[in-house]
Amino acid sequence: MTGDCQVRFCERLGVKFPLPTRLATLKFTMINKIKYDNNLWFQHKGCEGKHYLIGNPHTHIGRMWAWCPKEERTFFVSKADMGEMSEQARYWVEGYLNGNQPDPPVNKDGDVDFESQEYRIWTNAVELFHETGYWTDEERKCEKCGSALLQSEPTEICRNCLSKN
Ligand SMILES: [Zn+2]
Ligand SMILES: [Zn+2]
Repeated sequence: MTGDCQVRFCERLGVKFPLPTRLATLKFTMINKIKYDNNLWFQHKGCEGKHYLIGNPHTHIGRMWAWCPKEERTFFVSKADMGEMSEQARYWVEGYLNGNQPDPPVNKDGDVDFESQEYRIWTNAVELFHETGYWTDEERKCEKCGSALLQSEPTEICRNCLSKN
């Protein structure tokens, strides 16, 4: 089953623009038909009702493209911002995140060293990535204890410190 609706939006930002305006006609793709599958619903933290997964926005690793019927617009969402979801959505997200996993670190010969410390850290980060759907290439340190943050930690405070709060 699919539902659909018509909306004009900026493809890059996923933002709905009030139309018709001349600017929108010039700059943005015209009417796009958003097709979504009714089975792929999830609750979006900070909004109400069912939202629907659409696809890949090609912005950041782990980010997904979704539809908000309440605001009639598309938006980007990470798994950490999703609440309850359908079983179909759960499998969709899991498959998406598997396909979105960043590559493992390689040594100077370009090979993956499965025994290395970097690889072990990467494994932990990827495991957490499946919970958070977040990934950054920035090197960050925990604001509280100063230990290195995993690339998939969505906050500036490490899990250890968070659990102590
Ligand atoms: Zn919404
Ligand atoms: Zn910490």
